[in-house]
Amino acid sequence: MLYLSRRVDFSAMHSYRKTDWSDERNAAVFGLCSNPNGHGHDYKLEVMVKGELNNRSGIVVNTVDIKKIVSSFIEEELDGKFLNKENQYFINNIPTTENLVQFLWEGIKPQLDNCELHRLRLHENHYLYAEKEDEQMVSLTRKYHFSAAHRLHSNELTQQENVDLFGKCNNPYGHGHNYYLDITIKGDPDPSTGMVVDLGSLDQIVESVVIKKMDHKHLNLDVEEFKELNPTSEVVAKVIFEMLAPKIPNLYKVGLWETEKNYFEYYG
Ligand SMILES: [Zn+2]
Ligand SMILES: [Zn+2]
Repeated sequence: MLYLSRRVDFSAMHSYRKTDWSDERNAAVFGLCSNPNGHGHDYKLEVMVKGELNNRSGIVVNTVDIKKIVSSFIEEELDGKFLNKENQYFINNIPTTENLVQFLWEGIKPQLDNCELHRLRLHENHYLYAEKEDEQMVSLTRKYHFSAAHRLHSNELTQQENVDLFGKCNNPYGHGHNYYLDITIKGDPDPSTGMVVDLGSLDQIVESVVIKKMDHKHLNLDVEEFKELNPTSEVVAKVIFEMLAPKIPNLYKVGLWETEKNYFEYYG
């Protein structure tokens, strides 16, 4: 089986509001997104399909055909529109990123020939994307940032082994990184709010449980969890998952960008 991906961009307006709720309740649940006049995003959609290689042509399917199918669906239904007013489905369903990815899945999947839809990943902005893979539940990934120092040093290894393995990263004072943290929640969107998770409360939990503890800190010296642990990014990702899991029941994955070049994932 081969997998290939094509990106299609569009722009749309939306508002998160339930018409049978008061302004106060809409504002309490949806925050800034509840502005009745709407706001907008430049969305990036990654479409990944899978299929068998055609040995005569050397391709699975022409990516130009994928682009045509996806673009014409998006053009008709989403691009340049105020979704709550101009899209039949979103007149009755809140156009959250989670609901949009489900809507795109239902619309695109039956139109594909000679391949099968494998994954849709819809980026609302640099800090938020929703994803659906095969017939699994939708997930939502939110990106956070912190800066911290660490020193790579294992108490299980000798001094020389630490130097040989970690090199500069074993510097006794440590060194620092701009970490980016991807928190992924998986579940069925709430039929009323269209959300897999309340982003406001997710932000609050991640801020208080992780960011406040680690931002502008020395992980080995300032963060209790690493007193006995070597804060490699593998371990940091695992520790963050374990810190968050008790407070976030449908936590699916923690992704940690140590730098733009080094990325680590932990699934619990
Ligand atoms: Zn929005
Ligand atoms: Zn480092």
